[in-house]
Amino acid sequence: MKLTIRKLLIFILAALFLVGCGKKDEEEPTVTQHDFTVEQWADFYDEKNAAKADAANKDDADDDNSGTNEGNSSTDTSDDKNDGEKDNNDEPDDKKTKTTVITIDPGHGGKRTGAIYNKINEKDITLKVAKYARDYLLDNYENVEVYLTREEDKDLDPDLATDLEMRAIIAKDHNSDALVSIHFNASEDHKKTGTYIYVSRREHVAQQCKDLAKAIMKELTDLGLRERAIEQRKSNDMFDETGDPYDYYAINRHCAARNIPGIIVEQCFMDNANDWQYIESEMALKTLGEANAKGIAAYFELVPKSE
Ligand SMILES: [Zn+2]
Repeated sequence: MKLTIRKLLIFILAALFLVGCGKKDEEEPTVTQHDFTVEQWADFYDEKNAAKADAANKDDADDDNSGTNEGNSSTDTSDDKNDGEKDNNDEPDDKKTKTTVITIDPGHGGKRTGAIYNKINEKDITLKVAKYARDYLLDNYENVEVYLTREEDKDLDPDLATDLEMRAIIAKDHNSDALVSIHFNASEDHKKTGTYIYVSRREHVAQQCKDLAKAIMKELTDLGLRERAIEQRKSNDMFDETGDPYDYYAINRHCAARNIPGIIVEQCFMDNANDWQYIESEMALKTLGEANAKGIAAYFELVPKSE
């Protein structure tokens, strides 16, 4: 009798263990490869991120309150906690330990070359600059996670509209604090120079976009690039329910729809003899990537790694 009870217990424990393992696998989908089909992405996004998005919205609202209303939030916590903890200044610690998540988007890829000049494809140099920016952030700052929307020369979807939305979906999937899309410019007469940054005009992310853009613009102009503009562009044919136009550029628009400040950094004009110096060598591309990273770090006040 005793033996059978023991056997039964072992059986139940084993069953519970197996169920536990199964659950763990379900709850922790790892999404390191981004070659899902559109439908898979849609399912994945809907099921796993709808709840997360709601929670993130609430967090954002809380963050906003604590940012603009520090006095109130600190009195709230001292009411809730006992007096012994009152003098602890939690906020700087929170800032240091909070992980900042950045998605860097190398523009174009695969069959979409982007601009071509001097036999160089835009898609190839956007990828290099994005990787240099990622490496610089990871090597030099604490508490930062960086994801790329592509690590190799490929499109994210055969359909352009879907390809562009995927980039925002990936950023959202990682709960990114920002998406920075890397591009290079070209002009018809090959005479234009300098940096344009396109930011969302949607109110809930516009200021974050502008401030992030300013920080990156500063680093790029420090390299000697000409500051052209930080611009918001309105869609001609897409409006919200109040009649307010959405963003013209899909990256801005799809990121804003997911509460992510998403900006497009047109680093410089790859078809211009003056700006070519910022592209022509591996070292030059590395410098560009690092400038983008330093701008991101400045905006998010990332803490440099100690030696
Ligand atoms: Zn481009």
